[in-house]
Amino acid sequence: MTKLTKRAAVYVLGCKVNQHEAEAIKQLFKDAGYEIVPFKDWADVYIIHTCTVTHLGDRKSRQMIRRAHRNNIDAIIAVTGCYAQTAPEEISGIEGVDLIIGSKERRRIVELVEKIDKTTTVSLVSPRKELREFEDLPATSASTARAFLKIQEGCQQFCTYCIIPYARGPVRSRLLKDAVSAAGQLVGQGFKEIVLTGIHIGAYGQEIDKLNLAVLLKELVKVPGLKRLRVSSVDPNEINEELLDILTEEPVICPHYHIPLQSGSDTILNKMHRPYDTETYGRLARSIRIKRPNAAITSDVMVGFPGETDEYFKETMDFIRDVKFADLHVFKYSPRKGTPAANYPNQVAAPIKDLRSKEIINLGQELWRRYASQFINRPKEVLVEQKMGNCWEGHTDNYLKLRFEGPEDLRGKFVEVIPIEVKKDYIAARLKGGVVSE
Ligand code: SF4
Repeated sequence: MTKLTKRAAVYVLGCKVNQHEAEAIKQLFKDAGYEIVPFKDWADVYIIHTCTVTHLGDRKSRQMIRRAHRNNIDAIIAVTGCYAQTAPEEISGIEGVDLIIGSKERRRIVELVEKIDKTTTVSLVSPRKELREFEDLPATSASTARAFLKIQEGCQQFCTYCIIPYARGPVRSRLLKDAVSAAGQLVGQGFKEIVLTGIHIGAYGQEIDKLNLAVLLKELVKVPGLKRLRVSSVDPNEINEELLDILTEEPVICPHYHIPLQSGSDTILNKMHRPYDTETYGRLARSIRIKRPNAAITSDVMVGFPGETDEYFKETMDFIRDVKFADLHVFKYSPRKGTPAANYPNQVAAPIKDLRSKEIINLGQELWRRYASQFINRPKEVLVEQKMGNCWEGHTDNYLKLRFEGPEDLRGKFVEVIPIEVKKDYIAARLKGGVVSE
């Protein structure tokens, strides 16, 4: 008699690190012989990889747990991620939940799921102080060309608005030799670009003697065959001279720097406990542009932090215009229970947050178009990632998304293209010559 393949479905909310972890969880189930099915389908196991960065993350996480229970009342439901770590008692009250896994033990998820007997809800959530080791989940890929390599977990900066240090625990870093060997394996599997991810990458190695991000990058750029290394995000105060030199001088490292700003008002930055001011940030942006004039500097900005007046908001808009970011991710402040800012006076009303958010999004789009326009008619190298209808799509080293028509066999190759026209969120281009490199 043939054994029926078990089906697992994974739903993920939240940031890029969560997306990466959800892919890694899928891989663990696939390796154990499960078929991965869409979340709306019938499955034996549902995993909800939750987010708690805003109250909307919490709410959506609860909705998806309920939806899983409706999809199959007998299914095993496992809840992982940041909301699971910070509010296990809330989650255990939701009908159908069998297993709650915090920021540890995710590697054992298949084994834990298979032990569930459905008589009680099992909660495996370690207190923050016990989150000490870097958890090595499998590496994942964005396409056949780009892979994500998580090098770091946790944060202990405790910005006053942020729940992450409570949800993810303190900084734990992947050992240098493990990171280098994982990168070598990814290149061996054919990946051309590696994107380094983590919760607070600039803090990489701070708990290990003589280790930091600069040391790691110096080793990673030597991995034979690695064509591109992209650092997903580093805080401005963490880019010292040594790191700046590596980031801007090593040809393998992409000229794309995502440096969270959060606010362009020094008063607000101070209240957020962000350890830099706009002068430091501006100086850093200028230094990057001296060394790599066409680099993309992108950022995260938060609107509506408590006490953000019209005047402070204007300072942010002005600063963003001055720096001329290539792209922005905009977030509305959301009070999180247990963080200091949730109790600050002068909370900003929701309609004002909405207005400010729209204004900054519009400014970000204008700046993106301006940044992208300077590359029109200038040949650029693209790493081809996927087909979108009739077109190929890929990114340049400075993270411009380009689409162009071309022959069938371009996936995973570097080609030279001519950008022709800036569209809403990509650039239409045409293939110039053939393949530049395999
Ligand atoms: S650095 Fe600040 S914003 Fe970033 S994860 Fe840590 S506490 Fe949150």
